[in-house]
Amino acid sequence: MHLCPRFYMKPIREIFPLLTGPQKIVITMHQKPDADAMGSALGLYHFLVSLNHDVTVISPTNWAKWLNWMPGCNKVIDFELNKDKCDQLLAQANWLFCLDFNTLSRTKNLAPRIAQFQGTRILIDHHQQPEVDKFAFGISSTEKSSTCEMVYDFIVDSGNNQRVTTDIAECLYAGVMADTGSFRFPAAAASVHRMVADLKDKGLEHTKVHENIYDSYHENRLRFIGHVLLNRMDVFYEYNTAVISIPKKDLLRYEIKTGDSEGLVNYPLSIMGIKMAALVIDRDEERKWSFRSKGDFDVNSFARKYFEGGGHFNASGGRSSESLEKTVQRFIEAMKENASQLQ
Ligand code: 5GP
Ligand code: MN
Repeated sequence: MHLCPRFYMKPIREIFPLLTGPQKIVITMHQKPDADAMGSALGLYHFLVSLNHDVTVISPTNWAKWLNWMPGCNKVIDFELNKDKCDQLLAQANWLFCLDFNTLSRTKNLAPRIAQFQGTRILIDHHQQPEVDKFAFGISSTEKSSTCEMVYDFIVDSGNNQRVTTDIAECLYAGVMADTGSFRFPAAAASVHRMVADLKDKGLEHTKVHENIYDSYHENRLRFIGHVLLNRMDVFYEYNTAVISIPKKDLLRYEIKTGDSEGLVNYPLSIMGIKMAALVIDRDEERKWSFRSKGDFDVNSFARKYFEGGGHFNASGGRSSESLEKTVQRFIEAMKENASQLQ
């Protein structure tokens, strides 16, 4: 499908009448899916299956073990381990739902396959600056708390609220909870609480979801956090900024796996006055950055400008191919350049 660059996605509600009769559908999300990416994909999966569609969820990469409890997670295909199978599924599918990312590069090695997909691509996402010319239909709303909330809206707007099962409720609640910092970030609007009330009415056991996500780590992970906060965090009070940098040897020593560093970047924000927190991890192929801010410091622009990244106003990520030392040095220079906005 060739779309001109000025093309803007058609509203997602226009696909409701097109999704009649059994369709072959693939759902995908960003690499290293988090609770919102996996929860939205599986929430949508269960809903579309209930409408008799033939649906598969493909993850571009592996994911954290603490997502495996989600209903349907055992059916998700890891693209990196099953490239041929994924190629076959993508070749047969008419529809490709893209959830919780808006630039194809966020799907890593799956990106060229998404670009070449012959069917119709649909976007559901809440990040800034979407590549709208890549999607025929979609909804992109930075005001929304999470992609899970948007999938809930999608189900309700299609007139299918009664199809929300406890399986769907658990998947969607997990993503909303994670992306709102357990309902404390500004995005936890009235609509979010109304949705949760509806999910509760449908049998959601929210304590179970919280425990599955936040109380299922190994002892090593807690010791790792202790070590990192003690030895790997620098606080620059003059710039109201803190940075944590983690060398590869720490990951090996504490046997850190995908997902174990989730949430770590938030700790420095609990220091009084800190406006920006940054975390960089020395991964095999790159140095991966996470940025968080409070108030009016825009870490989406910061990540885009200095570290080939993006995300949200107060939560973003990026990357660097330099050494850990060099990328931290460049971060410090960037922080100094932004001194006035960090006051
Ligand atoms: P996290 O720090 O939790 O990995 O990511 C924070 C937010 O920034 C998430 O919403 C994520 O989707 C986005 N993000 C993380 N890394 C990147 C990146 O390299 N590029 C872009 N465009 N967004 C990112
Ligand atoms: Mn999200």
